[in-house]
Amino acid sequence: MANSFDVVVIGSGPAGYVGAIRAAQLGLSTAVVEEWTDEKGAATLGGTCLNVGCIPSKALLDSSQKFHDAKETLSVHGIGLENPTIDVPAMLERKNKIVGQLTGGIGGLFKHNGVTVIQGRGKVLAGANVEVTAADGTVTVVEAGSVIIAAGSEPVKIPPAPVDDEYIVDSTGALEFTEVPGRLGVIGAGVIGLELGSVWGRLGSEVVLLEALDEFLAMMDTQIAKEAAKIFKKQHLDIRLSSRVTDAKVKDGKVHVLYDSPEGEHTEVFDKLIVSVGRRPRTVDLLADDSGVTLDERGFIFVNDQCATEAPNVYAVGDVVRGPMLAHKGSEEGVMVAERIAGKPAQVNYDCIPSIIYTHPEIAAVGRTEQELKSDGIPYKAGTFPFVASGRALAANDSDGMVKIISHAETDRILGCHIVGPSAADLAQQVLIAMEFGSSTEDLALMVFGHPTLSEAVHEAALAVDGHAIHVA
Ligand code: FAD
Repeated sequence: MANSFDVVVIGSGPAGYVGAIRAAQLGLSTAVVEEWTDEKGAATLGGTCLNVGCIPSKALLDSSQKFHDAKETLSVHGIGLENPTIDVPAMLERKNKIVGQLTGGIGGLFKHNGVTVIQGRGKVLAGANVEVTAADGTVTVVEAGSVIIAAGSEPVKIPPAPVDDEYIVDSTGALEFTEVPGRLGVIGAGVIGLELGSVWGRLGSEVVLLEALDEFLAMMDTQIAKEAAKIFKKQHLDIRLSSRVTDAKVKDGKVHVLYDSPEGEHTEVFDKLIVSVGRRPRTVDLLADDSGVTLDERGFIFVNDQCATEAPNVYAVGDVVRGPMLAHKGSEEGVMVAERIAGKPAQVNYDCIPSIIYTHPEIAAVGRTEQELKSDGIPYKAGTFPFVASGRALAANDSDGMVKIISHAETDRILGCHIVGPSAADLAQQVLIAMEFGSSTEDLALMVFGHPTLSEAVHEAALAVDGHAIHVA
């Protein structure tokens, strides 16, 4: 195998593998160093997202939603199903099959594009070289024209709740429960906590989410977060804010959790406890002292807007750098860096990155929230449209939530779109496309939307910005 490449990528998650494929498409000789191995010692491709993140969580969310529908909502349509059951091992097997199919697919894409996979742990040396330590301890140095660091992130651990992978688990362990826990505690009511809590809640767990912050989904538009909280309450997700866990111990096969809230100290007993309090960049033993790459005050690799580090020809992308820890954000950074290495003037528009929570209904957002605009003193106008007024949402018996669109008060340029409701992710993407083209809400209002579609709620919210929504009183 050659030990000199135009581009060496460290990490094969969505930031690394996408960047590597783009670099190879541009004619650059490219290698990806990946330390994760399967039981046969071969590199496991796809990173957190494909193996223990986006994909397996969505597989379980979809399976559990179908079970929930069978049990709770199909009868509304006149469909009778007697006593539906859930076979958890079969559900996990389906999830694992999808993961295998997609991770195997990356191997195929690498082959097709001529990307070389090097199994081992990569470390960035001075002069943009990469030291690779293989699983058997063999060390080699790979010369790189440019290095792209895409080492990703790992779950944050908290001392009061040490993960034992049996009763107290992180997000990875929560994808592997072999039976439905009777009572499930979740520390952290953020994106991952809500998604994993929803999976097991739909299958029958009594779920309690303990959130240290006083505000629910503080990063989301407040109006949408409040609407979502109401919907989750109806779903019996017990979300307790201002609740800081101080201790978690396993006794007699149960997890005993102590937490503080403004009302005092409380105890809860759970069958399983998920710790989902955020993720941190994975940088341990990644950089030689003289690599020239620096970290910021929060431990992320320091980069500029084009993902260049402070070391010449060394770039970093994805969860290991600032910005939202999202697969699509990392992938676009990977593409941008590959293109810049090839001499193209690529950029990522950080103002237009969608955020999605895949609960049911979904929550999706792009652009500025109302509270951000208010605090920045930017004049704005907002329009909302409830799904209960959408014919298509009613036909589907899926009418919780609303679409909210915000535009600049003077120019009408769309500044943000926030949705909780059916297919929120796909609807927000429509508005994102409009935002990328610098559209106004009037542009959206003047477009023809198919009837009856959920997209009409986007049209009506755009009309509502200037008070012209048709289907609300
Ligand atoms: P990663 O995917 O973490 O990949 C990094 C890779 O680098 C890994 O394979 C690792 O083994 C390898 N590596 C690290 N250090 C080294 C080294 N020194 N040498 C060699 N290899 C190394 N995001 C979304 O956008 N949508 C979702 O729906 C979503 N759902 C999620 C659900 C869960 C439960 C979790 C945990 C995360 C979810 N995310 C989601 C976040 C998403 O998974 C991450 O943002 C994404 O995986 C980051 O991609 P990355 O390429 O930067 O890093």
